[in-house]
Amino acid sequence: MSNQKFDFSISGAGLVGCLVASQLSKAGLKCCLIEKNTIRDIPSFNNYSPLSLNYRSCLILKKFGIWENILPHLYPIKNLKIKSYHSLNRLEFNAQDINLNELGYVIDRRNLLQEFLNYIKSLPNIKIFDQESINSFQENAEKKDHKLYAKLSSGLSIESKYLIVSDGVESKIKHKLNIKSLEINYSQVSFVFNSNGLFEKNNAIQIFNKFGIFAAIPYGDKKINLILTINKKDIPLFFNNKNEINDIMLKNIFNDHIKELSDLNFVSQYDLVTSRSKDVSAGKIIFLGNSSQLLHPVGAQGFNLAIRNIDSLMNFIDKGKLDITSLTNEINSLRESVFNNIDLATNILGGDKLPSKVMSFFIINLLKSSKSMKNTFLKNILGINKFSYLNIGTDI
Ligand SMILES: Cc1cc2nc3c(=O)[nH]c(=O)nc-3n(C[C@H](O)[C@H](O)[C@H](O)COP(=O)(O)OP(=O)(O)OC[C@H]3O[C@@H](n4cnc5c(N)ncnc54)[C@H](O)[C@@H]3O)c2cc1C
Repeated sequence: MSNQKFDFSISGAGLVGCLVASQLSKAGLKCCLIEKNTIRDIPSFNNYSPLSLNYRSCLILKKFGIWENILPHLYPIKNLKIKSYHSLNRLEFNAQDINLNELGYVIDRRNLLQEFLNYIKSLPNIKIFDQESINSFQENAEKKDHKLYAKLSSGLSIESKYLIVSDGVESKIKHKLNIKSLEINYSQVSFVFNSNGLFEKNNAIQIFNKFGIFAAIPYGDKKINLILTINKKDIPLFFNNKNEINDIMLKNIFNDHIKELSDLNFVSQYDLVTSRSKDVSAGKIIFLGNSSQLLHPVGAQGFNLAIRNIDSLMNFIDKGKLDITSLTNEINSLRESVFNNIDLATNILGGDKLPSKVMSFFIINLLKSSKSMKNTFLKNILGINKFSYLNIGTDI
């Protein structure tokens, strides 16, 4: 049987694979999405699984033409408060300070994926192979414009110019290519809860204390997500022997920000292990999303970084050809700055040793004392510094 031919094959149809496929299709390129599970409409759910999109991501999604589809599912975040250890170490960021209406938005990740799936179904040039995965692949390196040949689990053979790997942190392709990852285990577990409460509308909070990192991110005017990243040794303080959450601990932690906390509803939990791939490309294979970097959620950056990587990918495609060297350089430099920001936040703001506490006191007070430094810092978090080609400050 002759091979099916594509410009790009994509392994993994999660948020990243679907978004890449949509953009390749819009650029007139033929691609296939290979997903190990069945691709079908997401069944209804009765909780909220939050994903934060920063301002830069929103601008890119708008440019990608998918903004209108996700708009009905978004809840805007206008202010972010950070508190490190005690009340003197508080910092507040407001969208208005940098002439924006919002810092970003929160969306349920399943709604986002469903909208991406709807979007790709409406576009041409995307072939979906679900309940499939790549069993083996090889590059024909003899010719200059060499192709990649992949054999799928069903036995089907496909041929493509490039392969995008977006099949998650356990990517088999990555293992086959022997691409190592730097793993950091924070000895913490993140628990996500939905709850009701009274709080300032559109305000998100991040609290660093001796038990871990505690975020409260609203998804409605009286509904809020609590993301509790707790040191493993302190977990027993937060749960009783029936595994019920100790709401007195939570009320104490969020007391300044949320009143009448009630109806706590467990959503998910995961061990906090970060994985950062040493290489983001190999020959004509590019790694994106969780296959490339699984991040500490402190900056809520994982998907935000992937969106920027997809934007770079699209910028380095010219007449169907991808400049992999330039793309790799750009992705690497972006990753480095994001990793540095995350390490700074986790080590300094979250560190419980005296030097970290002194340092965080110093940094927070430095930012408080200079409006321009604070605004530059905020623009860095939102990914909008040195970013001229889209209008900042206008309604999206
Ligand atoms: C609790 C939590 C909160 C988060 N919050 C944020 C946030 O607020 N903001 C943010 O930017 N990021 C956040 N992240 C990170 C974000 O979720 C990830 O960056 C994003 O989901 C990565 O998507 P992905 O498509 O790369 O990977 P995945 O979602 O892991 O998708 C991989 C896909 O590949 C498929 N697959 C796996 N193996 C194979 C195979 N062998 N062959 C074919 N298909 C395969 C899987 O079935 C899946 O569909 C959060 C993560 C977690 C866990």
